[in-house]
Amino acid sequence: YLLILLRLLPLVSQLNSLRSNFASMMASVDSVSELLRVEDKPFLINGKIAYQGLQKEINFNSVSFAYPGHSKQVLKEVTLNLPRGTTLALVGGSGAGKSTLADLLPRFYDPTDGCITLDGVNLRDFDVASVRRLMGIVSQDTFLFNTSVRNNIAYSRQEATEEEILLAAKRANAYEFISKLPQQFDTMIGDRGVMLSGGQRQRLAIARALLQNPDILILDEATSALDTVSERLVQAALEELSRDRTTLVIAHRLSTVRKADQIAVLDQGKVVEVGTHEELLQKSGYYSRLYGMQFSNNPETANKNNQSFLR
Ligand code: ADP
Ligand code: MG
Repeated sequence: YLLILLRLLPLVSQLNSLRSNFASMMASVDSVSELLRVEDKPFLINGKIAYQGLQKEINFNSVSFAYPGHSKQVLKEVTLNLPRGTTLALVGGSGAGKSTLADLLPRFYDPTDGCITLDGVNLRDFDVASVRRLMGIVSQDTFLFNTSVRNNIAYSRQEATEEEILLAAKRANAYEFISKLPQQFDTMIGDRGVMLSGGQRQRLAIARALLQNPDILILDEATSALDTVSERLVQAALEELSRDRTTLVIAHRLSTVRKADQIAVLDQGKVVEVGTHEELLQKSGYYSRLYGMQFSNNPETANKNNQSFLR
């Protein structure tokens, strides 16, 4: 069954609409390397340099983008600097361009104008498979296969040892619920096995990403609220995953936004503000208005109401 699914992946990429439900489910398979084969995207010109990992920084240099066949500029001269090991949170209203911007990193699309560089080298000059191998994606619609818990975690690294799988599960706060499943790591999940809660699925996806150990992490936080316990466990696991890792997070939670090294506020494809939480509140601009609207300037409420911020 797993093999059939893997065979289907190139087909999915040809649909070329990552916004469709099915494709975005596929996009949450955390190792993006297998997702889109270069040869299936004729407009994607592959580079020759093998990506070895980030030394210094990622730069978005005046990046503009319109979807193929559409005239509307979805991103307009976006310039951002993401130093290695730090977290950049993208916030902004629905349709602002957050997901599109994140999709440019694994080269699901290329900028129409401007460029993205990794340590000063244009992303297009790298071999795309080598870039995707070192990039992890955890998105809200976690895609799990109808196979054992173990196989789901080890999906991104089939050769992982038992110890590595166990450690990843523990670090992702998934070990406890797994050990209570009928056959622990051998339990089948999905249609033909046990059904997991949203929070449990997310923690499995995080375990998978921890095992992959990507150099660059792309997180698309869930907008829908989990129950409080699950929420806390997922948040802690995400923090563990993104610690000391170069992370681009599409943030919906205040706690994530607050802890980010930088916040970029997107509005209709433009970066309207960049800074830390405190800096942006000081500015009394777009961010502080959104923050005020959501939390009525009451830090008490803001702390408690951590569920969804800036959809
Ligand atoms: P956000 O993640 O901030 O909600 P998106 O990046 O998903 O925003 O969308 C930005 C804009 O691009 C929206 O106007 C959306 O309608 C448009 N868009 C998104 N995906 C596609 C697509 N596959 N084809 C054409 N337009 C798209
Ligand atoms: Mg989005």
